[in-house]
Amino acid sequence: MDFKEKIRVIPDFPQPGIRFKDITTLLKEGPAYRAAIDTMVERLKDKKIDLIVGPEARGFVVGAPLAYALGAGFVPVRKAGKLPGETIETEYSLEYGKDKLAIHRDAIQPGQRVLVADDLLATGGTISATINLVRQLQGELVGAAFFIELTYLNGREKLQGIDVFSLVQY
Ligand code: 5GP
Repeated sequence: MDFKEKIRVIPDFPQPGIRFKDITTLLKEGPAYRAAIDTMVERLKDKKIDLIVGPEARGFVVGAPLAYALGAGFVPVRKAGKLPGETIETEYSLEYGKDKLAIHRDAIQPGQRVLVADDLLATGGTISATINLVRQLQGELVGAAFFIELTYLNGREKLQGIDVFSLVQY
């Protein structure tokens, strides 16, 4: 399937000069959403993944169906202050701005095989922060998966040594 054709590009959102890749147009088409997840599952199914860790909010939309299909658990990473239990936090920079991400301290057992997932890899700031949290909890990182990769922002350079998979590239 041509997933790129399903993704809408919105100029100047959320700031002038940014061409936002809107995945809601893909998500609302059942067969396209399913095919996107199934394609990722095909690539990931032999990795013996115990847990998918995804940052809010679009990381949930990718990570939760992947977890279901792989029979893995799902662990949410959220903006600081949102998770109810005891957390650890890490600061990170986005393509536009700065923030803090958090994960429950007991979300990962040391040595569990973890895949991190999000909708889009841009500068790599968000996924690096997510990986930082996984490593603090001594999860074994087995890869990073995305619907979209903006190759011109070189996010992969921050992810050296990590198996990175994206469905479509810009
Ligand atoms: P990074 O941290 O890699 O610079 O930016 C990626 C994060 O920002 C992801 O969590 C992603 O959801 C969000 N993001 C940045 N640009 C876009 C975009 O054009 N489209 C979408 N859907 N998300 C974006």
